[in-house]
Amino acid sequence: MTTIFNFSAGPAVLPKEVLRQAAAEMLDWHGSGMSVMEMSHRGAEFTSIIQAAQQDLRDLLAVPANYKILFMQGGALAENAIVPMNLAGLKPQPATADYINTGSWSVKSIKEAKKYCNVNVAASSEAEKFAAIPPRASWQLSKDAAYIHICTNETIDGIEYQFVPDVAIDTNGAPLVADMSSHILSRVIDVSQYGVIYGGAQKNIGPAGLTIVIVRDDLLGHALPCCPSAFDWKIVADNDSMFNTPPTYAIYIAGLVFQWLKRQGGVAAIEQKNIAKAELLYGYLDATDFYETRIAKDCRSRMNIPFFLKNEALNADFLTAAKAWGLLQLKGHKSVGGMRASIYNAMPIEGVQALVSFMQEFASSHA
Ligand SMILES: *Cc1c(COP(=O)(O)O)cnc(C)c1O
Repeated sequence: MTTIFNFSAGPAVLPKEVLRQAAAEMLDWHGSGMSVMEMSHRGAEFTSIIQAAQQDLRDLLAVPANYKILFMQGGALAENAIVPMNLAGLKPQPATADYINTGSWSVKSIKEAKKYCNVNVAASSEAEKFAAIPPRASWQLSKDAAYIHICTNETIDGIEYQFVPDVAIDTNGAPLVADMSSHILSRVIDVSQYGVIYGGAQKNIGPAGLTIVIVRDDLLGHALPCCPSAFDWKIVADNDSMFNTPPTYAIYIAGLVFQWLKRQGGVAAIEQKNIAKAELLYGYLDATDFYETRIAKDCRSRMNIPFFLKNEALNADFLTAAKAWGLLQLKGHKSVGGMRASIYNAMPIEGVQALVSFMQEFASSHA
């Protein structure tokens, strides 16, 4: 079989080592006689799995002691509602939340938040087709915002923050909330600069069905009365993510990915690999006349790289030929068009090398 490289934006590639281990443990986890899927979430076996997963994530991101790690469900889109339901109560009602609009996922977050609070879009790059992040100096933040929301990696548009915005200077210490779904664990972050970090697991962590939330202690306990108990961060935290049945198998696989990441040398080490992978692909895109990328250089995503063939009539041929080379799921999101290569942690550099070789070959045979 040809080596396959999977460039899906999500659900996405997982480390082969992890999949092999999961396969080996499928029918009998550690001599328990059970598959992880068959275990009570309150039993000793699963308790050890979830506790290890939580501790490994805490270690990998150096999460400070005054933050809780929650394992939730509903994906990042549900969290778009869960965030205002938990934070709007920090202020008298109706509260205002500030949103920075940098792409398709920000647009969805804004739409959802409007159901629970007033939304001030403090800056937007929509008029520029999301080709850049509005400069921090242009943000019109509210004086009394309950929180400020950003999407630090726009999976569809290929935009990534290369800085942490300082929002404290313009607000009375409103917490910064970040949707990190598609680049969490791909680079070193300073968790203490955020009030809340959240993300769906299926991009860079594990299977769909698990949502990670990292929340500062003082932001718990402010949920609006309309907030479902299962989505109230304080209730989830007080119950160690076991208020209701958590997505046990997804947590188990995420835990294996965390252990794999530790074996790779942790987040700082994988970040260097991610930089090398992104430089390889952008380097080629900048050098060729056959393809182009349209994102400003200072905010290009290292994880999701949209690119275009200058002759778009060749798109279908490109995808068919790529598939024959073992390069899968390169079609761009329908709202952007063109191609997109998602090169998450689990994508080895060999996958990006294969992609660039194929792109060179395709360009020279269609020049
Ligand atoms: C994929 C994605 C989402 C949506 O996640 P779901 O799990 O489908 O709800 C939200 N935000 C970002 C940045 C994403 O990449």
